[in-house]
Amino acid sequence: MKPKLVRTIAALRRETARWRAEGLTYAVVPTMGAIHSGHTHLVTEGLKRADRVITTIFVNPQQFAATEDLGKYPRDEDGDVRKLGKAGTHLIFSPAPEEMYPAGAATTITLSGPAKVGLEDRFRPHFFDGVATVVAKLFIQTGADFAMFGEKDYQQLKVVTRMVSDLDIPIEVIGVPTVREDDGLAKSSRNVYLTKTERQQAIAIYRSLQTAAERIRSGINPQSATRSATRMLMVQGFKVDYVTARNAESLAIPQHKDEPLRLIAAAWLGKTRLIDNIAV
Ligand code: AMP
Repeated sequence: MKPKLVRTIAALRRETARWRAEGLTYAVVPTMGAIHSGHTHLVTEGLKRADRVITTIFVNPQQFAATEDLGKYPRDEDGDVRKLGKAGTHLIFSPAPEEMYPAGAATTITLSGPAKVGLEDRFRPHFFDGVATVVAKLFIQTGADFAMFGEKDYQQLKVVTRMVSDLDIPIEVIGVPTVREDDGLAKSSRNVYLTKTERQQAIAIYRSLQTAAERIRSGINPQSATRSATRMLMVQGFKVDYVTARNAESLAIPQHKDEPLRLIAAAWLGKTRLIDNIAV
């Protein structure tokens, strides 16, 4: 089924009002396009919970710094519509930047808590305020019952969950496990930037996290396990931003022996920045 594509908030609301009148529930899957099976898996999971699924496509200028890849971020709307239709998305909302940020727009969301724990926020200081602002707008515009987010962007999932709770937005945020390539590399729109050699090296990020998780489970302390993982990535040619073990909920530095842990990493391979995380 070819999903309907709308570009304005007014058209979006006409569709959702019809669903509500019929008593249907719906989930939203926010994306920046360049759709891959990680995204379509979020659609599949949305369809398990709700009667209808909206996927949004918006490459949000507010979450890119001037030095980042906004201009060259991969875009393929026709391909996206086809893949999302095949996955069962009913409606695609793909607004222009002017629809999301009309002239004079002056309100942004400022975060603390999981947004200020020294992970992505340390290396991309504008990122989460931009994400939170656009995601809050999408939640208000769609009025969806559920929001599907990937664990792939683990800190983002925690930030959005916290924001929804703090702002009393009536939507349930659902975290969905990371979809991986056959060799374990997390699917990402940015993987297309990797050269053939880098693509082969890239698997080291997942392997190093797996090794660190095994070592922690066998009793080695998390700091020493993540230090080894960092060294392993450096030897493989990565420039490492961080490899760290954090409390799986608060993302704070662990204080006790029995806390649930999440291993989280970000590292550059050439000009491409990769992120990944796994449970311990
Ligand atoms: P993006 O368009 O890359 O910003 O991602 C849109 C949504 O898809 C976010 O909730 C991501 O966490 C999620 N996502 C991206 N890659 C994956 C993946 N490999 N597995 C699961 N979810 C993903």
